Amino acid sequence: MSTLRDAIKDKKRIVVKIGSSSLQHKETGDMDYIKIEKLVRELCDIRNQGKEVVLVTSGAIAAGKKAAGIKDMSQYSTNEAMAVKQACSAIGQARLMMTYQKLFSEYNQIAAQILMTKNTIVDNLNRYNAHNTFTQLLSMGAIPVVNENDTVATYEIEIGDNDTLSAIVAALVEADLLILLSDIDGLYTDDPRTNQDAKFIEQVDVLTDEYMNMGKASTGSNVGTGGMNTKMIAAKIATSSNVDMIIANSVDVGILHRILEGERVGTLFCANKDEGFDLPGFVNNLHK
Ligand code: GLU
Repeated sequence: MSTLRDAIKDKKRIVVKIGSSSLQHKETGDMDYIKIEKLVRELCDIRNQGKEVVLVTSGAIAAGKKAAGIKDMSQYSTNEAMAVKQACSAIGQARLMMTYQKLFSEYNQIAAQILMTKNTIVDNLNRYNAHNTFTQLLSMGAIPVVNENDTVATYEIEIGDNDTLSAIVAALVEADLLILLSDIDGLYTDDPRTNQDAKFIEQVDVLTDEYMNMGKASTGSNVGTGGMNTKMIAAKIATSSNVDMIIANSVDVGILHRILEGERVGTLFCANKDEGFDLPGFVNNLHK
């Protein structure tokens, strides 16, 4: 087990995902600048170690709602809610990126925004272009900052959550490691908030149905869209595409360098390349 963790030290191309609930203060829903600053510093330090970094970040819709003063979505009909969500994501994405841009440039790194939908992967030409753009950015030493393009993604073309999106990105760029920063330490046999006997799982060698079912106990976060279930879907995409994946607690984002120093924190899902895994086909079937 320790050799697998040692091998994490040599990972070169790393995708990090952080969720909305990790980026805002629980009490107010406003952005947690100290946390975001620390995250950016960690990522810049990983870059300075000569590694390549991609950040998948949520928080656009939450930031947009906050800016527009929208507290309660239940006042809107389903159609209105979609338009409001899309408008909020447009407002919030710009704010989110402005914050990242400011912080990355303070540490002398180039940040680049990439917004995607399901079509980016399902359509062959789009996928080819996206792959080329990522590859070019990484070779230029830039840090791609990725989110779903929620301004145009309606149900039919949305990936829907950034856990899945980050695994898709990791597969697309042939990353060595995907780190999902979450509000939970990793995978448990059951929801530790409701079952005291739930046991922590340090490593998943083969992602069996038994593990997939454990994902059904949610993290309980009510911000963003990811629960443990979407993290298991992410694990399926990542490990089948030959990418190791770690779920770790974002309470202290300093956990990133601990992971990359080979410390045994979080749950490690070991890469198991499945030659038959069809990324565009899998993405096309999401939500169907
Ligand atoms: N793309 C959404 C946003 O930036 C969040 C999706 C998610 O939380 O997984 O607000």
